[in-house]
Amino acid sequence: MFVAANWKMNLDKKLIFEFSKHLNTFKFSSKVEACIFPPMTYVDYLNSLISNLPISVGGQNCHYKKSGAYTGEVSPLFLKDTGCKYVIIGHSERRILNHETNDEIKLRAQSAINSNLKVVLCVGESLIDHEKGSALKFVEEQLLESLPNNFENLLIAYEPIWSIGTGKIPSVNDIEDMHQHIKKFIFEKTNKKVKVLYGGSVNLENINNILNIVNVDGVLIGGSSLNVKDFLAIYSAAVKHLDKF
Ligand code: PEP
Repeated sequence: MFVAANWKMNLDKKLIFEFSKHLNTFKFSSKVEACIFPPMTYVDYLNSLISNLPISVGGQNCHYKKSGAYTGEVSPLFLKDTGCKYVIIGHSERRILNHETNDEIKLRAQSAINSNLKVVLCVGESLIDHEKGSALKFVEEQLLESLPNNFENLLIAYEPIWSIGTGKIPSVNDIEDMHQHIKKFIFEKTNKKVKVLYGGSVNLENINNILNIVNVDGVLIGGSSLNVKDFLAIYSAAVKHLDKF
């Protein structure tokens, strides 16, 4: 089980310091892996504050080249060098605001993997595709075009765009179908098993329902991960959920 916090472009040095104080007094479980994706500039700082804890740190994106004339971009090697274990690739905000295409996302994911980072590859449909009933088809196409050629331990985050930051989430059946579809599709194409996280308006109220859905292997949390108490309560819900089995 994996619980990931995508802080996006939030939390400065002072707030990260405060956040880390709570993390340092919390008892983490070996059953649930936690990873925080802070703003790139604070990867090193966060790592230094939580280096004794069983929490991973990750980058929110990386470039497909390892070095060169790419002003403003981050090399996967630099993420690795600053202690990142994971990287998010293909978040819908990057796809929409930075015009990242599936082709580019595939390159970024492969480059990250080749640099020994574990990739959280984000997919998810728009509201239009959701309402048309073509979400499965849309996500299948995203996967077809953006899955790296070689990978081990890939994590997929199913994040419907219309659910991110809106408080709306798909029905239990829709999440279950999508996660099953993603796993089946990737297995048929690559003979590999992947874990699928759900992301989109995860919060304290809906976490138990989400964790109870078959084929949900964890969550990627945006807004609710900015508050350390909420983040740790969601983490604890994941531990409790596993304790039931
Ligand atoms: C996200 O953007 O990855 C996300 C899941 O955001 P939120 O939880 O705020 O919907």
